Amino acid sequence: MTELENPTIPADRPLAVFCDFDGTFSVQDVGSTLAQQLVPEKRKRLWRRFEQGEFTAWTYVMALLDGLRLPEKELDRFLETIDLDPAARSLLDYCENEGIPFRILSDGFDWNLERLQAIHHIRFEYSANHLEYEGDTWHLAPGRPNEACGCGTGSCKRGLIASHRKANPDAFCIHIGNGRVSDLCGALEADLAFAKDTLAPALDELGRDYVPFTTLQDVIDVLSKGREAGR
Ligand SMILES: [Mg+2]
Ligand SMILES: [Zn+2]
Repeated sequence: MTELENPTIPADRPLAVFCDFDGTFSVQDVGSTLAQQLVPEKRKRLWRRFEQGEFTAWTYVMALLDGLRLPEKELDRFLETIDLDPAARSLLDYCENEGIPFRILSDGFDWNLERLQAIHHIRFEYSANHLEYEGDTWHLAPGRPNEACGCGTGSCKRGLIASHRKANPDAFCIHIGNGRVSDLCGALEADLAFAKDTLAPALDELGRDYVPFTTLQDVIDVLSKGREAGR
């Protein structure tokens, strides 16, 4: 049994919360929903090759989305259809009120995260990959790849959490995520992992503990109870 019900969170260690964006902080996955709508056949074809091990997570994204033609206005209209988890704002408020540093770790793109913050009137710190427009065309660059990890993503969450830990050796790092490709190394690096969707069975397979969740409200509830228990 690798599912934790009520983990205790040590009161004598400073917390840090790291949260995936697509499908975790937001309801829909921005990149894959966009690809499904704009280039469905290409997506199917490339995904098959990804599953056969022909691509890393990042080279798959490059093959799929680099050079995509999508005028900014159309992208904006699409981003307006992206919903946040019903408790996304509450999680930001909770962390701010408790003085807990919060950071979105995303294998998506800075451009979209900036626009989504404006659309939803919220602010958060984040690490992500880079998207630049040249005319109407997407140009992509990885945020912080990490050869040593093996996740193959453009922004390795293990590396990002490890950096925080290096600067804050006592930190109790929490990772919240939903995907086996981009969240697994972050969940393994964290002291406590919240998991749903494909991330949960991936952690099961490795026999690693995690807290299952449905919405971010579950995360807030477990965090506040766990901190109470740790006092
Ligand atoms: Mg995700
Ligand atoms: Zn990694």
